[in-house]
Amino acid sequence: MKLLKEKILEEGVALSDTVLKVDHFLNHQIDPVLMVEIGKAFKERFASEKITKILTLESSGIAPSVMAGLEFGVPVVFARKRKSLTLSEGLLTSNVYSYTKQETNTIAVADKFLSDEDSVLIIDDFLANGEAANALVDIVQQAGSDIAGIGIVIEKSFQPGGGKMRNAGHRVESLASISSLEDGKIEFLSEVQV
Ligand code: 5GP
Repeated sequence: MKLLKEKILEEGVALSDTVLKVDHFLNHQIDPVLMVEIGKAFKERFASEKITKILTLESSGIAPSVMAGLEFGVPVVFARKRKSLTLSEGLLTSNVYSYTKQETNTIAVADKFLSDEDSVLIIDDFLANGEAANALVDIVQQAGSDIAGIGIVIEKSFQPGGGKMRNAGHRVESLASISSLEDGKIEFLSEVQV
């Protein structure tokens, strides 16, 4: 996705060989125009799939997911990372290990929002080691819903998450695929490889 790649090159910062900071338009400040285009791009990529719901993870997955939800005309559910007082029973939960924070967090979704009649598109901001995507897949499977696919804003293709998800049989569509962040230089996977 051209606009996204331009934004990444203009405003993204390679914090290390593995971490990309995109807080100018996705992870802190949000660019609404870019989010609208991201929603349209997900709709295009998954146009042939039956989708009844979008599932993401708070907080950075919410903006792109809401825009995609608008395009598909379906509700968006976000998994919560923190326990809420109003959310205690009827929960589907899974664990996410964060390599960057070196800690495991439980994420939760109220079971009333996913059913065996749903066909779910999972969306997240980044795909790195695949821990977050794997936990969202686990929650969808616990609900008995179908998984229509996994939509990712930025995949870091030099990390194993994309391979793991594709090997597990999931359709993964990434709007930008980064092949390297070495020496502070952001490189994209060429379109022919995507
Ligand atoms: P994974 O679970 O695939 O290892 O990592 C995905 C999650 O970690 C995403 O939800 C995202 O919040 C965070 N993440 C992973 N890599 C990066 C990165 O390079 N930059 C930022 N900003 N977040 C990342």
